[in-house]
Parts: sequence; C-alpha cells; structure tokens
Amino acid sequence: MDISYILNHLGEEETKAPKSVVPPIFQTSNFSFNTVNELRDALADERNSYIYTRGNNPTVSILRKKLAALAQSEDALIFSSGIGAISAAVLSNIRAGDHAICIDKPYSWTEKLFAEVLPGFGVETDFVSGVKPEDFEPYRKANTRIIFLESPNTFTFEMQDIPSIARWARAKQMISLIDNSYAGPYGQPTIPMGIDIELHSASKYISGHSDLVAGVAIGSKAQLDRIFNMGFLNLGSVPSPHDAWLMLRSLRTLPIRLEQIGKNTQAVISFLKNHPKVERIHFPMNRDHEQHKLAQAQMSWCGGLFAAELKASASEMEIFCNNLKYFQMAVSWGGHESLVIPAIALSAKGEQGNIPYNLVRIYVGLEESNVLIQDLERSLELV
Ligand SMILES: *Cc1c(COP(=O)(O)O)cnc(C)c1O
Repeated sequence: MDISYILNHLGEEETKAPKSVVPPIFQTSNFSFNTVNELRDALADERNSYIYTRGNNPTVSILRKKLAALAQSEDALIFSSGIGAISAAVLSNIRAGDHAICIDKPYSWTEKLFAEVLPGFGVETDFVSGVKPEDFEPYRKANTRIIFLESPNTFTFEMQDIPSIARWARAKQMISLIDNSYAGPYGQPTIPMGIDIELHSASKYISGHSDLVAGVAIGSKAQLDRIFNMGFLNLGSVPSPHDAWLMLRSLRTLPIRLEQIGKNTQAVISFLKNHPKVERIHFPMNRDHEQHKLAQAQMSWCGGLFAAELKASASEMEIFCNNLKYFQMAVSWGGHESLVIPAIALSAKGEQGNIPYNLVRIYVGLEESNVLIQDLERSLELV
C-alpha cells in the first residue's frame, strides 16, 4: 500500500458520522471540493462556506449559532481572545479621521486600544464617565463614529443605562458596542436593548473552567458581515476548533454554574457586609449600591465578581491576601476557582488609577460557600 495513501487518506473516506450525541471536533485547517464549480461558488461566498478554518469551521459554527441565539441576536463570531473580538469589532467600524467615545474605566487592554493604538491610525477618543446617559452628548462631534460601553466594569462596577445610550447612539448614527463579559449573554442580553455589537471575553463564564482563552462578537448579520470581512479574516484572531468544542461542552452547564456562583456570592457578601473590618462592598445588586435600580432593570443575573474595601493599611492588605488558602491570587475570573486580586498589586505597574488602595477584587467560584467564608474569616483576623 502507498504510504502517502495510508498517511493522508486511509480511513478518512467515511465522512458520514454516526449519530454521536456530541458533535465531532473538525480539527482541520482546510476543506476540499469535488468540482471547480463548487470551489468557485465557495470562494465567491466565504462567509457562508467551509473553505479554510480562518473563516468558517463546522465545530465553530455550532458555537456561533448557540451564542447568537443565547444573546437573542442574528449572528455571532468566535475569536481566539476577548480582546481579539474587541479589537476586530472596533477596527472594522472606524477609520482615520473618526472620533470615538469610550467609558472612562474600561478593561485595561481596551483602554490601550483607544488611548495608544488608535491615535497612531488617526482616531481620537474621549473617555467619559457614562454613569448618567446625558454625560456623553457634550463629547459627541460631527465625526463621532462609535461609542464603547462596558457595563458594569470589572473593578469598581459602575454601570451605564444601556437602552437609553443605545437609543441615543442610533439616533445620532453611531455604532454602539458593549463589553458584556460581566453578566454575559445569559445575564444581560444587550442586543434587544438596541446595542449594535455585544462583545465577550469567553475566557470567563462561557468557557467557565479556566482552561482556554476566547472571545465573542454578537450582532446583526449585516454588522457581522462587516466584521467577518475586515477584522476577522484580516486580523486572524480565530479560535481553534478544539477550543470551540470545549466551549460547546461548557455551555451545557452555563445556567447551573451561574446559579451556583450567584448563591455562593450572596453568601460570601452577606458575611463580609457585616464584618467589622470591611468598610464597603462594591456589588451592583446590593441595595446600598448607587445604581442598584439600574442593575435590577438591566441584569437578570449578576454574581461572581465584586470588590471589598477593607479597614486595613497597605501592608495589612498584603497580609490578608497572602494568607488566604482557598482564594487564589490571580487575574481573570469566571472559572470554577475562587480568586482575589488586590489594588495594591496593580500599583506596582502604575495601573491603580482611581481604585482605592484598600480594595480587593473577589471572584467567587464553585467551591462550598462555608469553606470560602472560613478562609476569608481567618485572613481578616490577621488584619
Ligand atoms: C478578561 C476580559 C477581557 C479580555 O478578554 P481575553 O479573553 O482575556 O482577551 C475583556 N473585557 C473584560 C471585562 C474582561 O474581564
């Protein structure tokens, strides 16, 4: 038998899959065609064809359909990172001479995109608080093309009134984008609120097990055609079929994971709220949060990530974090494991900004809440 045949073709002729309950991983970069006509048709319509995995891949397509439906939208594109999705969506909708408006405390790499990358390509940005919808209008210019929201942000949890701002953006012919990683497509579908492009770091709840990095852009077919043909195919931040398959697996448990994370978060916050060494909790669903009503109006689910300010010196903040046993010290969030990141860790890189030094961001995962509470209690005694 010809070795070329054995290595390249043997056993692969049978493409009709048995009725497996889990879809196969199409771990292939390339797709072949039987006739020149088929190839020509596919090349003329890459958006709807399987030609090459930088464009479409069947495993990834399943995930796209599920996420678009979950977000109550027409289409979704999957990227190899959240910031890949954000960069592609922004760059596909802006060009030299345009102006952008962005909320003032976005995710750090989003801030870098607007503050450092885009000015090099002739795009200027104003950063605006956005806590009140009317904050934005004074910054709008004749050439303002996009408005970028993140609600809530993931350190101090300020929110924007999404439907009002989306309406205003549409009336002024601007494209509205939102980083919706915090509540996700399950907890806060923003497309029905009038947002043009909803973005996610799928590295968080959508993957949910801290084992991959990915991103999602969601919107109308027309908007995603634009992103597909520019930011997606050109920047090439595409996911591997295997990672898409892992996300398909994760999506099956998304509601029960979020439900458990929400319950655990409530238990941990109830404990911390009454603790004498805790000064303040930042959590959108807390009754004493300034934007509590807005949070309830916009989010059907909220949990996992919040922040606490402790009655502690900078060195005591360090002692508190260093002595936690269950909570691991790490960036990111959205997985099974509980995490902390103190503001004092950011200051070494000069990134603390207007975050108080005594703030610790806490992510509550899937562990038993009483174990997590004991861990916090023990560490607070050292403060
Ligand atoms: C993690 C995160 C991102 C970036 O996502 P990656 O998948 O790490 O590229 C963007 N926005 C928010 C709010 C995030 O938490």
